[in-house]
Amino acid sequence: MNYRPQNYNLHRMALYVASLNSGSNGNCYYIGNQDEAVLVDVGISCREVEKRLKRLGLLPQRVKAVLITHEHGDHIHGAPAFAAKFNVPVYITTATLRAANLSLDDSRSIHFTAWQKIQVGKLEILPFPKIHDAIDPHSFIVSGGGVNIGIMTDIGRVCEHVSAQFNRCHAVFLESNYDVDMLERGAYPLALKNRIRNGSGHLSNEEAFDLLNQYRSPGLSHVFLSHLSRNNNSIERVQQTFDVLTEGLEIVVAPRDKETPVFFIDGNRKTEKVPVRVAKSGSQLSLF
Ligand SMILES: [Zn+2]
Ligand SMILES: [Zn+2]
Repeated sequence: MNYRPQNYNLHRMALYVASLNSGSNGNCYYIGNQDEAVLVDVGISCREVEKRLKRLGLLPQRVKAVLITHEHGDHIHGAPAFAAKFNVPVYITTATLRAANLSLDDSRSIHFTAWQKIQVGKLEILPFPKIHDAIDPHSFIVSGGGVNIGIMTDIGRVCEHVSAQFNRCHAVFLESNYDVDMLERGAYPLALKNRIRNGSGHLSNEEAFDLLNQYRSPGLSHVFLSHLSRNNNSIERVQQTFDVLTEGLEIVVAPRDKETPVFFIDGNRKTEKVPVRVAKSGSQLSLF
């Protein structure tokens, strides 16, 4: 394929991040420096990952590892194909691999445990446990160039690990799955409604807001609201909830069916007040 990567060498003390897809239809998050990157979850096809990276001017060959948070299909289904095509390891816990039933070559999977740091080139990844209705769910902090990026989706309720790690982040992919009223009034069967809101499913807009409001660090510059429900949430509800917090923060909604632009995270806070906005797909930041 004929990739024309952008010049990502300008900023050495920073990380580049993008959501390639976010939602119950598939999750995939890119975090990298100028030389190497990781994908957290590959819940879209390998082909879509390649297509979206290409639109962003990012080389798939720069991806050196895939990290899996838990076994739900929207987080794993493209992982074996991507790992095989680009010859990269998949970091996954033993229990998650067993539950996932993935056709993953043994030699390709590396089993991690919570709190044991993973080194991928100059990137350092800290896996930590969270609450979600999966066998062995984890979230990650990816660190490099002095900044920490949190990937915090599929969280039933905020536990002490999530709040403590959130507090270290310069940028975070934060689940804002559902609006409480929309879920209540919506068409889902009661059992499914309860599965989502019973404390082991997903975070509501209000819960995500409280986490951000209480635990944001002074260095936090970007929040990517992630894993929004198609049926039980709306951009308007999310904007209403989060707009009061935009002072010094860029808050962007990660789309369910396309990629965000690449964002450059250097730990510098915004000075201007920008309303919560939905990311435009495929476009480059003016930085590049
Ligand atoms: Zn999910
Ligand atoms: Zn899940």
